[in-house]
Amino acid sequence: MPIPKSEKIWFNGSFVNWDDAKIHVMSHVVNYGSSVFEGIRCYNTKKGSAVFGLRAHVQRLLNSAKIYRMDVPYTLEQLSAAILETIRVNKMKECYIRPVIFRGYGEIGVNPLGCPLDAVIAVWEWGKYLGKEALEQGVDVCVSSWNRIAPNTLPALSKAGANYMNSQLIKMEALLNGYAEGIALDRAGYISEGSGENIFLIKDGVVLTPPLSSSVLPGITRQAVIDICHGLDLQIREQGIARELLYLAEEAFFTGTAAEVTPIRSVDKISVGKGTRGPITATIQEKFFSLVNAEVPSKLDWLSFVYS
Ligand code: PMP
Repeated sequence: MPIPKSEKIWFNGSFVNWDDAKIHVMSHVVNYGSSVFEGIRCYNTKKGSAVFGLRAHVQRLLNSAKIYRMDVPYTLEQLSAAILETIRVNKMKECYIRPVIFRGYGEIGVNPLGCPLDAVIAVWEWGKYLGKEALEQGVDVCVSSWNRIAPNTLPALSKAGANYMNSQLIKMEALLNGYAEGIALDRAGYISEGSGENIFLIKDGVVLTPPLSSSVLPGITRQAVIDICHGLDLQIREQGIARELLYLAEEAFFTGTAAEVTPIRSVDKISVGKGTRGPITATIQEKFFSLVNAEVPSKLDWLSFVYS
């Protein structure tokens, strides 16, 4: 899908026109993948436009940078304010938000420390990632032949651009084989996550999700869903999950800023449960959508209103 352009991009603290937000081809990031980034969403709720999980996303961005020794010259408050300002400048009601911090143009060579650190924030209008139909009907997925990045190779707790070379292998293979998404296993063979989503299963009425030690991104939606499960008095466990539980689970779903809560109806052409969105998934989905759409009172910091 081509990116629907918005007017302005925040670039190192100033706004530039969308078409002028350019970097040199010899920037460190182009050669070595040295970036960290976020994917955040602003919902057009009945109470006004609101960013979901703003502080949590910006904190994860700063964490991602810290792991790679990037000295970000902005605080959590400054970046959060810059994100809200970028939405306002572009007069967006509902959008996807993409902050990126990267090693820019300076020296060549693997050592990044001599290169400047650049930061951008782009916003654009965006619909459903896996499709509206996917939210109701669920998606058909496969277990990937690619494993997720292993500990001691690329740290999974950092949302680094380079990690997405692994995600691309998973996604391309899945799509070319006719699946909507691939599920990667961790290096021990337990379930890790999709190319851009965390995963949850329901087995014997208990909600299961892989622990952070299974090379998963600490998803903001994952955390919101864990909170929702606690609120619903559902038993939820973070534990190593054998691949074959994908085939035996009553229900399964992905979570992510883009995917929101997307049911999984089959894995490797084996139906998950009845092969439709299950009742627990439907309940969690409903709670999730009422949370992001400001229809229920929630913990104060889940929603940051843009224009108030
Ligand atoms: N895992 C990966 C690899 C991702 O790219 C994403 C999307 N950021 C997620 C999980 C879900 O994270 P979140 O809920 O914070 O969007």
